[in-house]
Amino acid sequence: MIVMKFGGTSVESAEAMEQVISIVKSKLSRKPIVVASAMSKITDTLLQCAQLARDGHESQAHSLIQDGLAKRHHQAIEKLVQNSLRQKLLQDAVNKYLDEIKNLVHGLAILGELSPRSLDAIVSYGERLSTLILSVAMQEHSITAELVDARKVMITDENFTKAAPLLDLSASKAREIFLPILKKGSVPVTQGFIGSTRDGTTTTLGRGGSDYSAAIIGALLNAEEIEIWTDVDGILTTDPKMVTDARLLETVTFQEASELAYFGAKVLHPSTIWPAVEKNIPVHVYNTKRPESPGTHIVARETKESKSGGIKSIAYKKGIAVINIYSTRMLLAHGFLKSIFEIFDKFETSVDLVATSEVSVSLTIDDAQHLEKIVSELKKFSTVTVEQKKAIVCLVGEQMKYTPGIAARVFNAIKEINVNMISQGASEINVSFIVNESDVSTVVQKLHCEFFE
Ligand code: ADP
Ligand code: ASP
Ligand code: MG
Repeated sequence: MIVMKFGGTSVESAEAMEQVISIVKSKLSRKPIVVASAMSKITDTLLQCAQLARDGHESQAHSLIQDGLAKRHHQAIEKLVQNSLRQKLLQDAVNKYLDEIKNLVHGLAILGELSPRSLDAIVSYGERLSTLILSVAMQEHSITAELVDARKVMITDENFTKAAPLLDLSASKAREIFLPILKKGSVPVTQGFIGSTRDGTTTTLGRGGSDYSAAIIGALLNAEEIEIWTDVDGILTTDPKMVTDARLLETVTFQEASELAYFGAKVLHPSTIWPAVEKNIPVHVYNTKRPESPGTHIVARETKESKSGGIKSIAYKKGIAVINIYSTRMLLAHGFLKSIFEIFDKFETSVDLVATSEVSVSLTIDDAQHLEKIVSELKKFSTVTVEQKKAIVCLVGEQMKYTPGIAARVFNAIKEINVNMISQGASEINVSFIVNESDVSTVVQKLHCEFFE
């Protein structure tokens, strides 16, 4: 059995879904479980509808449901499903979902409030709509597909908008629900990204979470392989949206892939790797538009020599805030760092980079939701400054640790750029630093040129 995950662009239209169907067809002998995202941009549209409703713009939210959601899904149905009875049933089912979204929107407008719990309820429709259509379209193409509501399988905690799966519970549900379908020779089609609490309330695993869903399902069922199908050839030397000459990497280690994902390479969700590593399940990244391309194989250990100074790939993450904490009196005192980290912990904000000097500590965060509260608590015992609109640039490669002179090459290549907070990760497989957001594209391009061109 294998798990095949198709991302938003892979199911963005009737044509894209047809391509998915032909790829799945070619893999039927391997007993695939299909995990799909919402059609591209639909999650954003649903979020926008919810925010409009909360702010009292219900009629604007309705127009967006009509123009941004209804049209795209109905167009896809018309092209994908010709059998008139099947088409009618599918249209009715989609309309029922659209009505439910309108009801939720109405509720939000009345309350003028948008809780993480309501947000999850509303965004879950993206994946529910796409998989409903995909499963019927597969039947139309003579694949015996069966839609599985991921909320019956993926049981999570109550941490809405970034819920964590409860693995033991989910494992028994996954076996109970998926295995009989596979045994019949049918193809289960289910949603990525969404789950539910033990009492059945809808949750989501965080943005980009469909990769994570696929990896968990694969691990729970001991899949032979997890395939992540997306809109690029695999994991590349950097984001191709930043450098058009970015090159495909044939293999990337689990550790490299997780560092890249964590530092912004959106091609994989940062949590995707660990379920696969724990069960030693191979992960492949493939391009839905070019299924013949070899893709990237994520491996436990690299066997090939690096040709680029040990650097495999360059990631970047924008929207970073740097928090500088000064305290001449306290800095070297016992417990000072602990009291700082306790504050970040209290507001559930994770820290990416840390740099210390005799009199200061600098930290970076990418989630500024609780920034004000964090700063006001820090100010009780120190002087604090905040710099926003920063970005992290991160170079990753396992062989970096055996290659001298990398730092010199990196900083020489970008010598005219203002760099702060240089850090070599404790894992020794990454070098990261902070630049102004406005310098990111220059920095990534120059570094790509230095190491890969
Ligand atoms: P999906 O909808 O299939 O999950 P995403 O948009 O989440 O796809 O992720 C794919 C995107 O990741 C690519 O289009 C690319 O712009 C971006 N990306 C960033 N860094 C990399 C990288 N190193 N290699 C490949 N893609 C990358
Ligand atoms: N649809 C969700 C998102 O846009 C999950 C995913 O695509 O992985 O974040
Ligand atoms: Mg993604």
